[in-house]
Amino acid sequence: MKIKIWGCRGSLPAPGVKMSRYGGNTTCVEVRPDTGGVIIIDAGSGLHKLGKSLVKEKDVTSVRFYFTHSHWDHLLGFPFFQPAYSNKYSLTFCSGPHAQDSIRQYLSHQMQAPYFPVDLSQLQAKMNFHCDNPCQENRNCICDGIEVRAIPINHPNGGFGYRFSENGKTFFFFPDNELGFAHPNGPDRDYFAKTVQDADLLIHDSQYTDDEYRYTRGWGHSTYADATDLAIAANVKSFGIFHHDPDRTDEELELHVETCRQRIQKSGSGVQCFAVADEMEIVL
Ligand SMILES: [Zn+2]
Ligand SMILES: [Zn+2]
Repeated sequence: MKIKIWGCRGSLPAPGVKMSRYGGNTTCVEVRPDTGGVIIIDAGSGLHKLGKSLVKEKDVTSVRFYFTHSHWDHLLGFPFFQPAYSNKYSLTFCSGPHAQDSIRQYLSHQMQAPYFPVDLSQLQAKMNFHCDNPCQENRNCICDGIEVRAIPINHPNGGFGYRFSENGKTFFFFPDNELGFAHPNGPDRDYFAKTVQDADLLIHDSQYTDDEYRYTRGWGHSTYADATDLAIAANVKSFGIFHHDPDRTDEELELHVETCRQRIQKSGSGVQCFAVADEMEIVL
């Protein structure tokens, strides 16, 4: 599968010269299974650019969306997704269990007057909010030829991370997940360590430093140290730092990546660690 990052920032888009290397767009990731098809995870501000890129591909007429949860930074790009305005496209909303109708509600709320000039009902694309093979919690389903699993996250109001698996390669995506605090019904660290064991690629929320976490604990995000320890405990091959804080400059981020690498080295683990950047492409 091919993975392309269109937005890796957390909480709020953060444009600026000091953020230009890693980018300022919020969560949006494109997955292209080897069998074909286009999968989009989350509709953060990165979706705007992805939409413009998709309309240049004449053969692409259908897209499947998976949403991790309904926080604004994961939805706000949808009204700016160009394919949604053309009847050439069909958009299917798959996502986790019980999610389909709630996704329609989230997307339509943010486009209602007086928040946005175009109502969801005016969009021209065919929108299917009833996926024929919706993911069940912790059970695999096949979507566009690729195996997908929805995994509950530990985050305010809940939500799902995803596992994509194809040709013996596994990619886990947890953009928002707090490892250091117990949210209602949220799984704990051991659960995540078992779940992502031996993954080829883990992209995980790493928003805060330990200092910042003293006042952000309970907001739903992990520290660099906690996410790195998860990658080590689970023996993943490659670990991508994600959901960069909107205040985090490129320079700061690179220092934090270095600290995570030292932590990995000290543990004796062979995990490869990097900071995810907008427009980064990964082939698994
Ligand atoms: Zn978020
Ligand atoms: Zn969130």
